[in-house]
Amino acid sequence: MNSLPDNFNPETGLAPYAACDAVSGGRHHAEPAPNYRSEYQRDRDRIIHAAAFRRLEYKTQVFVNHEGDLFRTRLTHSIEVAQIARSIARALRLNEDLTEAIALAHDLGHTPFGHAGQDALNGCMKEYGGFEHNLQSLRVVDELEEKYADFPGLNLTFETREGILKHCSPKNAAELGDVGERFLHQLQPSLEAQLTNLADEIAYNSHDVDDGLRAGLIEVEQLNEVPLFAAQYAEVTQRYPALSQRRVIHEVVRRLINCQVVDLIETSTARLSEAQPANLNEVRKQPQNLIAFSDSMRERNLELKRFLRSHLYRHYRVHRMSVKATRVIRDLFIAFNDDPRLMPDEAQAHVAILRSVTGDTGQARAVADYIAGMTDRYAISEHHRVYNPGELT
Ligand code: MG
Repeated sequence: MNSLPDNFNPETGLAPYAACDAVSGGRHHAEPAPNYRSEYQRDRDRIIHAAAFRRLEYKTQVFVNHEGDLFRTRLTHSIEVAQIARSIARALRLNEDLTEAIALAHDLGHTPFGHAGQDALNGCMKEYGGFEHNLQSLRVVDELEEKYADFPGLNLTFETREGILKHCSPKNAAELGDVGERFLHQLQPSLEAQLTNLADEIAYNSHDVDDGLRAGLIEVEQLNEVPLFAAQYAEVTQRYPALSQRRVIHEVVRRLINCQVVDLIETSTARLSEAQPANLNEVRKQPQNLIAFSDSMRERNLELKRFLRSHLYRHYRVHRMSVKATRVIRDLFIAFNDDPRLMPDEAQAHVAILRSVTGDTGQARAVADYIAGMTDRYAISEHHRVYNPGELT
């Protein structure tokens, strides 16, 4: 029988391999320890008070924000990820505050209009180093948020920043310094970062099923060809034969989340008790992630992802919105990069600073920062204001 270690810290209740203040890699700008809060609580609090966090409310996950009030936005998605990640962290005696900070910050760098927006901006930035939402999330917390007197950005701890940077090319890793190093030396991130990454997957796979059904883009009959969904659906309808379809779907979605979370906790517990890392440093040196799904759950999960890709993300109504979004992002980039004076004063000032350091590349990066920070509705109205002569500026 696999079980968690019994030598957890009596004061914090954490496992020996959990991240904690005592082993933290610290902040770029040294600060006195917080009163009445842990370092990761302070990170979480700074993220919640960031402007980029508030903008998540009006950014798309799959459905554009104005398509309906019931669909997930990046804000509700981030909160769902934090909820799932914290449950897993608590069960594994890992650091809940750190997982919450990573979960709430993980999508801060997303452009408006979801993946269509990211791909369009990446295309615009091709000659200037590209655009990657994951790197942009780090850029938001390291540089773009300007709130504190003593430092740029939010000055978060190493572990929160490392958790935000889920993937990274060797070229970017070399430029990033501390948080890039693990990609160059094949080291693992903290267990909290590993689990938050998988909590993200559990959240979006499950809620995209829910939102897709609500939007009428996918049907229960189609989803019943996906074994993970079919198993939960059969269980719910057998147990509650007279239940309304809406409640059946909700029961199925909560079971989808639950069965993946339980599998992840049990598989990870087994791996942790086999590897027995003595501390966070040993976690980093493991040949593989210790937080993982079982092989069969990973397969079930892939089937669901494949289904969503072919039936939901490529549905013509989603595709139409993606094409429109691509046009808006490209048009805005072209207009602003050709003539930065079309941008608001604050954005122009940002262009001037980056331009003085790296010329055209710096200017393009500042334009990308401005566009990436927009909400869906702000991008649409900026597009009207810049391109439509009948529109007030
Ligand atoms: Mg996400």
